[in-house]
Amino acid sequence: MAQRKPLIAGNWKMNLNHLEAIALVQKIAFALPAKYFDKVDVTVIPPFTDIRSVQTVVDGDKLLLTYGAQDLSQHDSGAYTGEISGAFLAKLGCTFVIVGHSERRTMHGETDEIVLAKTKAALRHELTPIVCIGEGLEVREAGEHVAYNVAQLKGSLAGLSAAEIAKTVIAYEPVWAIGTGRVASSADAQEVCKAIRETLAEIADAETAASVRILYGGSVNSKNVGELVAQPDIDGALVGGASLKSDEFATLSAIA
Ligand code: PEP
Repeated sequence: MAQRKPLIAGNWKMNLNHLEAIALVQKIAFALPAKYFDKVDVTVIPPFTDIRSVQTVVDGDKLLLTYGAQDLSQHDSGAYTGEISGAFLAKLGCTFVIVGHSERRTMHGETDEIVLAKTKAALRHELTPIVCIGEGLEVREAGEHVAYNVAQLKGSLAGLSAAEIAKTVIAYEPVWAIGTGRVASSADAQEVCKAIRETLAEIADAETAASVRILYGGSVNSKNVGELVAQPDIDGALVGGASLKSDEFATLSAIA
């Protein structure tokens, strides 16, 4: 089986200005010594306006932490007021970009087609897209969560080559678990992550499927991360609330 290095990604959402961002990155770096980066990749995903400041700290202090963005435009440049191009993010040294977070899908009407276009834009600029999928509570309660996630995954990656899919990270984030304190059980999370890997094998190939990192997201903290990442198809976590606390984020990263 391919070796997949765990990834912990901290999605700060619309929190922290650039000065607060500098302070948090410095605290995380202090709390997470370099030795941990041999076994886990750790990235912070701040608001756009913080990225330049985060870059300065990461480069200046030669940190092993990487950083990324929470969204990008499907376009590279032009008359798209308020949009941010993948080219700009790449120029700022971003490694990752989240696409299709449920808050973008629900509050900004992002469809699978838009998520696919954004995934392609990320790949054009050599950014690693963290492609988010996940079912709402009604779907889960109806027992249709596996089929729902498989369909969302296929729609969000439609037409990509195996080589392109190999450059993505997939995040399974059940909407009912995001920001609610109601984490999915490790068995429930594994059920969907296994189906994701099987789907990747179907739309790409077995080798690609075995190499892609699949994250779980939704109320992850230092107490539950260990059991989640112990599952065979869970390769890390996309962390919201707990990524804003340096000690908690460093602790859960060290556990992963
Ligand atoms: C998220 O926003 O991606 C997330 C998982 O949030 P939280 O960890 O706060 O549930």
